[in-house]
Amino acid sequence: MFMKGKKGVVLGIANKKSIAYGIAKACKEQGAELAITYLNERFQKKLAPIAKELGCEERLYPCDVTKPEEIEALKASLEKDFGKIDFIVHSIAFAPKEGLSGRFVDISKDAFSVAMEISVYSLIEVTQKLKPILSENSSVLTLSYYGGVKYIPNYNLMGVAKAALEMSVKYLAEDLGKDGIRVNAISAGPIKTLAAAGIGDFGFMLKWNAAHSPLKKNVTIDEVGNSGMYLLSDLSSAVTGEIHYVDNGFNIMGMPAVKFDENGKPTIAWNGE
Ligand code: NAP
Repeated sequence: MFMKGKKGVVLGIANKKSIAYGIAKACKEQGAELAITYLNERFQKKLAPIAKELGCEERLYPCDVTKPEEIEALKASLEKDFGKIDFIVHSIAFAPKEGLSGRFVDISKDAFSVAMEISVYSLIEVTQKLKPILSENSSVLTLSYYGGVKYIPNYNLMGVAKAALEMSVKYLAEDLGKDGIRVNAISAGPIKTLAAAGIGDFGFMLKWNAAHSPLKKNVTIDEVGNSGMYLLSDLSSAVTGEIHYVDNGFNIMGMPAVKFDENGKPTIAWNGE
């Protein structure tokens, strides 16, 4: 039981397909006690059965990260329930539709600000506001994607947000190291979730990743969940500021592997779909 005695909060479960759900489940299976959050009333009802399954029906709290007072209220609730906490999972991102398809050059300042506020600043603000109740041996985890490092079609504005998120992880890690707080990100391969549905041609992205990753498949929320559990547990006590890829190795590929057709001509190693 790698998480026995650990208490933490998970932000970003929308449903059972959410990456945050995979992480919460893996932590619970290893003995962690959880609190989870929802965005608004509509999601409160949806999340009630999930909270029950995760053993935290008494610790299901509202937290829209655009509302600082809700983050403050979350801190007060967690303090009341747990005293100190040992981990935070930040699995939140949002960009207006105009930022996830079309021409990058046309993105508005408003869309840019919204994406940066919800997808990047929220990590800083949640960490800042919950810091007084973080234990001296705690771990903060966020979720990124390769589109923050290299161009990915349609990822557009979210790519810029993920680049800023990954650097925020590193600056937070240095700053909070002296307080015994570790900060890491998982850069997950593409997974069909609610958030992913907003990205143009996402189905093609899934096929491309499965075809061109060394392990020739897509990742699951259970796989990301297990890696997340490792980064939240003492197993990773010497790991901070890291962007840990859980993507079947896709990020190491500089070029798709070559196959040859019956005439000996090179073709791209597409799985035939
Ligand atoms: P998801 O299930 O849709 O989760 C996204 C979460 O963000 C939802 O719970 C959503 O709440 C929440 N959220 C959005 N705006 C919020 C706000 N203002 N305040 C609080 N919460 C807010 O999708 P997911 O794919 O698991 O995404 C989780 C994280 O993984 C994101 O950072 C995403 O960029 C990252 N990621 C995803 C993939 C992928 O392919 N799916 C790959 C790599 C990284 P509501 O649903 O209630 O609006």
